[in-house]
Amino acid sequence: MKASLIEERVRRILSQLPPEVKLVAVSKFKPVEDIQSAYNAGLRAFGESRVQELLDKIPLLPEDIQWHFIGHLQTNKVRPLIGKVAFIESVDSERLLKVINDESQKNGVTTNVLLQVHVAAEETKFGFGVDELRDFFNENMPEKFPMVRICGLMAMATNTDDDEQVRNDFATAASLFKEIAKSYQNPEFTRLSMGMSGDWPIAVEEGANIVRIGSAIFGDRQYGPTNTEQ
Ligand SMILES: *Cc1c(COP(=O)(O)O)cnc(C)c1O
Repeated sequence: MKASLIEERVRRILSQLPPEVKLVAVSKFKPVEDIQSAYNAGLRAFGESRVQELLDKIPLLPEDIQWHFIGHLQTNKVRPLIGKVAFIESVDSERLLKVINDESQKNGVTTNVLLQVHVAAEETKFGFGVDELRDFFNENMPEKFPMVRICGLMAMATNTDDDEQVRNDFATAASLFKEIAKSYQNPEFTRLSMGMSGDWPIAVEEGANIVRIGSAIFGDRQYGPTNTEQ
């Protein structure tokens, strides 16, 4: 896509976002040239959903990019990501959290993660259930994973034209986020990542402080559903 168009789209979105909300440009399936254009427009945080694609892109792009991994992650693909990403946003099971913890330990690093909460109507989407996540914190489970820093929650709304449903989904995630922040009392637990190209204004109204926007910046993807399986 034309560099000037990407830069214009980035500037337009940034002008509409409240300053405290961080824009993660979702660059999955897009060439490094397009990522460089968005970088030139000032963006530093990019989201990818496939491990190999991310690893291929990293050496071709500026070192100060913060990569957010946002796709469904299989435990056998965790190792190469450790030390390479700013956040793994899509941690959707305790089993995955444990593997991230153990691989981080082996590498002597702490890994920033967000826990993905399932609030959408579609069963196909990934994530912890709302009650499951509440129990996880009530039972002090984060203590078991000293090499991960649980920095907040990530959520996706139902894929629908019904704005009220979308708002409800985001409100559910936001209220869980606030509840956990209060009881968990960890100063790192501050991020609520929700909102994509079609629904980010609603997500921001409901309290998102990270939005993950792909097609509204880079144009439609030729293939690839959201939250792609590895
Ligand atoms: C692909 C994807 C996005 C971006 O979707 P767009 O509709 O292109 O903005 C955001 N979050 C996740 C988890 C995704 O997989």
